[in-house]
Amino acid sequence: MSLTRRTAIALTAAAPVITQAAARGIAKTSFGKVKSGQAVDLYKLTNSQGTEVTVITYGARVQSIRCADARGKMADITLGFDNIEGYQTENPYFGAVVGRYGNRIAKGKFSLGGKQYTLAKNNGENALHGGLKGFDKVLWTAKEVNGGIDLTYISKDGEEGYPGTLTTTVRYSLSDANELRIDYTATTDKVTVLNVTNHSYFNLAGEGSGDILGHRIQINADRFTPVDAGLIPTGELKPVAGTAFDFRQPHSIGERINANDEQIKLGKGYDHNYVLNGPMGTMRQIVRVVEPKSGRVLEVSTVEPGVQFYTGNFLDGTNKGKGGKVYGHRTGFCLETQHFPDSPNQPKFPTTQLEPGKTWKTATIYKMSTEKA
Ligand code: BGC
Repeated sequence: MSLTRRTAIALTAAAPVITQAAARGIAKTSFGKVKSGQAVDLYKLTNSQGTEVTVITYGARVQSIRCADARGKMADITLGFDNIEGYQTENPYFGAVVGRYGNRIAKGKFSLGGKQYTLAKNNGENALHGGLKGFDKVLWTAKEVNGGIDLTYISKDGEEGYPGTLTTTVRYSLSDANELRIDYTATTDKVTVLNVTNHSYFNLAGEGSGDILGHRIQINADRFTPVDAGLIPTGELKPVAGTAFDFRQPHSIGERINANDEQIKLGKGYDHNYVLNGPMGTMRQIVRVVEPKSGRVLEVSTVEPGVQFYTGNFLDGTNKGKGGKVYGHRTGFCLETQHFPDSPNQPKFPTTQLEPGKTWKTATIYKMSTEKA
């Protein structure tokens, strides 16, 4: 994307005939105020195909993704709320950037540089998604940059129990090829751990349109990380071959989601980290999802070593989302690209450590397209 909001407006004024070019770009509007009174902004990224992604500064959340189906019909394919009040109610991280540490850290404890650190326990005896007030519940500072929007948050030394002042920037950009790219960078002033990801819930038939069991998914992973009863990895990298976790060929999400399988039972469906094939650090396509009725396709590429495939098993209709729609059991799925859960306590997993003077960098692309419905 090359047009910023300002240039888009300038173009409209100078040459109102170029309506498509005028619509393409970035537009900023108010999204209300958080309870403490601070203003929340919404940024709308529009590309030449008319695809629209909105992002809010509260939790650096993806608030919506509107894109066409195989017949050209537009729909919003992510779960969320119409207003800031919705996002401030109890909800399972709709669209949010999660951090400092996406997914679980066992017993909310780890040691680093000879010191023990204790985190808030917000998921039974474990720490989940950054703690009581993680990155999903803070205000990020936005800046329009050439080609996207940068959201920055400075997390204080000791926040939620984590060491080091951590400065994180998340860049959202939308290409004319319908790629929503998320680039993350972070620096620290003390050795620390982090695992920042995005927790969007997708329903390619349109949010609020029913369950996601008919979506067909392919995951390029030969292994996954089995979990214990608290959903903490056991440390094993288990082959998916011959199990309900084998998505190396496309299968519908619903086909084996209630299989008589210990891991499926522990996750109450899919709620597991896949060990992605191909070298971490290299951008590679690792997931493809198709919704057969609409023909919408979502392809995910990442440099990360893992992805948490979560099928909305804990959605229970409590959350009334956009337009008052009820988000029931398994009506959205997440593909959280990440390092593996509990890595700070698992020396054999790729490290999540960041030292002062170094920059942590990662990127993920969600590409929307269609195939014949
Ligand atoms: C976790 C789930 C959790 C969900 C919402 C996922 O990343 O793996 O267990 O319920 O996030 O918090």
